[in-house]
Amino acid sequence: MSSASADSLDTVLATRLETQRERQRYRLRVTTGTASKKGGHLIREGQETLAFCSNDYLGLAGDPRLAESLAEGARRFGTGGGASHLVCGHSEAHEQLETRLAELTGCQRAVLFSSGYQANLGVISTLLGRGDIALHDRLNHASLLDATRLAGARIERFAHLDAADCETRLSALDADRRRLVITDGVFSMDGDSAELDALATHCERHRAWLMVDDAHGFGVLGALGGGTREAQNLDPSGIAVTVGTLGKAFGTQGAFVAGSETLIDALIQFSRPYIYSTSLSPALAWATLTSLDIVRDEPERRAHLFSLIERFRHEASSLSEFDLHLMPSATPIQPLVIGPSWSTTEAGRLESHQGGNEAAALALAEELERAGLWCSAIRPPSVPAGTSRLRFTLSAAHTHEDIDRLLSALFTAAHRLSSARSTLA
Ligand SMILES: *Cc1c(COP(=O)(O)O)cnc(C)c1O
Repeated sequence: MSSASADSLDTVLATRLETQRERQRYRLRVTTGTASKKGGHLIREGQETLAFCSNDYLGLAGDPRLAESLAEGARRFGTGGGASHLVCGHSEAHEQLETRLAELTGCQRAVLFSSGYQANLGVISTLLGRGDIALHDRLNHASLLDATRLAGARIERFAHLDAADCETRLSALDADRRRLVITDGVFSMDGDSAELDALATHCERHRAWLMVDDAHGFGVLGALGGGTREAQNLDPSGIAVTVGTLGKAFGTQGAFVAGSETLIDALIQFSRPYIYSTSLSPALAWATLTSLDIVRDEPERRAHLFSLIERFRHEASSLSEFDLHLMPSATPIQPLVIGPSWSTTEAGRLESHQGGNEAAALALAEELERAGLWCSAIRPPSVPAGTSRLRFTLSAAHTHEDIDRLLSALFTAAHRLSSARSTLA
């Protein structure tokens, strides 16, 4: 430790970066255009690419109507908030957007944050402190765990999607402590959804609070785009804290927390990440009002998206013949898990320090890249060892032809790589 600290800052960091490159985990690509133009097409490092990795689920990030209201909002309210909300950065645009988000979530009130990461930090650090307990679904988003650590609260975990396990663990916890049960609405790496009704029942029985981060559900799920709760017909009163981002289906940026009048009032007065940060751009808040209109008035976007999901799942299920397996996801997040037989592939031998199936995920993603397609190869530590996967996100910006192109490239790549494997065996 002492010798490391004597090294220059660049030497210390260069070593870490080198390891990252060796593990093929070094990331960052430059793009031009947005994934919503011409059905998910964008230019990556000079090359036309069809992207299946954006969270722009409704194709709104490049919608000219949003660009127009962003410009109008900038002219009316300015590009920047100019100050934090409590000083003088809280505009009429913010106020209107908060009212609309309360309506969308079915909650009494909502408050804006500059990002989902900040919203999670803002809520958890206000509700919990040392000695309190956050009970997480095992696959919760990293921002929820980071927020709990910064709050100094104890982290407990229950098995993924397992409401019964959550209840067992709640029973074992000290009821005199504050206990916050936290779950994603839709899980970002698996695409599956929490069973909110059961969690709400257990929380009520044990007098714990339920927090749902539905970053991937809002705008996409439910007849009105009201997210996982709406899709599951659950009364909003069962959920104490709801978090959503504006950077995914709504196509802009920022985030919100929704809940009771008292919760929101307390966040505004006590949440340090809210108080000590410049307000979200009022121009973006204004543009997001247009985005909420579109989410409400154009349900055909959701209908189109779900027809793409159905087409993809119907065809891609046959990839199991190559030991590539769709996960049971009914959302635009569609992971394809690399099965155990890939552990001994040619690709698997290339990088001896990686599990074979990690290398196979990379090799498949590279094959797709050569065919002009862009998806993410997700490997540990983002997912458990042995479950490396390709993760495809579908968007209303895609066409049925785009899905067919993806499927055809996937079958070609799977076929080519598995033949390479059998010649080696
Ligand atoms: C994307 C995401 C966030 C972060 O939201 P940003 O607005 O991008 O900061 C938080 N929670 C979950 C579950 C997410 O998927």
